[in-house]
Amino acid sequence: MSTFQAPKGTYDLTPPRSATFLAVREAISAPLRDSGYGYIETPGFENVELFARGVGESTDIVTKEMYTLTTKGGDQLALRPEGTASVLRAALEANLHKAGNLPVKLWYSGSYYRYERPQAGRYRHFSQVGAEAIGTEDPALDAELIILADQAYRSLGLRQFRILLNSLGDKECRPVYREALQTFLRDLDLDEETRRRIEINPLRVLDDKRADVQKQLTDAPKLRDYLCDACKAYHEEVRALITAAGVAFEDDEKLVRGLDYYTRTTFEFVHDGLGSQSAVGGGGRYDGLSEMIGGPELPSVGWALGVDRTVLALEAEGVELDLPATTSVYAVPLGEEARRVLFGVVTELRRAGVAADFAFGGRGLKGAMKSANRSGARYTLVAGERDLAEGVVQLKDMESGEQTAVPLTEAAAELAKRLG
Ligand code: ATP
Ligand code: MG
Repeated sequence: MSTFQAPKGTYDLTPPRSATFLAVREAISAPLRDSGYGYIETPGFENVELFARGVGESTDIVTKEMYTLTTKGGDQLALRPEGTASVLRAALEANLHKAGNLPVKLWYSGSYYRYERPQAGRYRHFSQVGAEAIGTEDPALDAELIILADQAYRSLGLRQFRILLNSLGDKECRPVYREALQTFLRDLDLDEETRRRIEINPLRVLDDKRADVQKQLTDAPKLRDYLCDACKAYHEEVRALITAAGVAFEDDEKLVRGLDYYTRTTFEFVHDGLGSQSAVGGGGRYDGLSEMIGGPELPSVGWALGVDRTVLALEAEGVELDLPATTSVYAVPLGEEARRVLFGVVTELRRAGVAADFAFGGRGLKGAMKSANRSGARYTLVAGERDLAEGVVQLKDMESGEQTAVPLTEAAAELAKRLG
């Protein structure tokens, strides 16, 4: 242990567990990459105003959870708390939406920062893989994203997750509902902060986790009863497409994203093995966001899946990912001359695309073979003075235990052949 520790609410990814994180990022992004989504990477920090507008002044993320800083040059920045605002900002800046092929489909993967109360599944630094489909209003696009997330979770072997689905209406019907909800909420017995929320962001009150608040909400007007015909038809189409794809979901009319630019489709992926931090991912349509950050009208839809909680979900379900060994060949030299020779063979193997490692540090046979075992290598190459004198190395198949002497000059080619 050094004098220092990882900051509160953060943790390090170290081998072997770190391999699972890489595999999860890979598994979540694979369906996207196969579906026309291009990779986008944006800075870890942005102008704080982008998030204030693009996430919402009234959200917990902006009011409580953002890491903000002032640079020596006087710029007000924030570590990114989420991905959508940055990705949309970058797409607009690069004029991706003007190239004439909408939607612009993008995926990303990275670290996000929120000053939260740390607990299991809730960290101050966490990691997401996300997808955004920008510039098109088409229920098939909403359905595509939900189906791809389902495919990603399934490919990892997860089964105990559920998809919650709702529609938030649009700029026609949402305001009517909003007012009806406000009228209802103003008559309830609520604390000051919640009263303020009624005026700024009444839909978020529905999301309140406290039992005494929930009890009063039983008879709250339901958004479903206020959806206009266009929103109803759109939502029915999304539901029909997901259903036709064989993806199960639950209608959840309490599911809200309380910002004005979130429209129509909204969804969340929850896992039943995670206790209170049960959301492994979420997303929806955000038809008004582009205009909120000074862009043109660009109806869009997207999601972000949490990598940390997905790994916890795998552990909760007891799923062991089938992670292939990273090393195929492990070389064990006995003596100085063998060191030089086998190091050369390892270099040759690596250049031929064979994953190879080497017993560094001049260790004895026993310790080196232990490392070979631990590496998961399929083959070991062992050579001592007598082998070299005969111009051979000993090639051991770690699965069968079978050992054969192979001419040194043919060792790399033989291994490449055996490993396909
Ligand atoms: P929650 O309600 O749990 O706070 P959220 O609505 O803030 O989640 P989103 O902003 O929708 O979450 O982020 C998408 C996903 O990112 C979440 O479903 C979750 O898996 C993950 N995530 C969000 N915040 C954290 C965090 N502090 N630590 C770990 N993962 C997180
Ligand atoms: Mg949160």
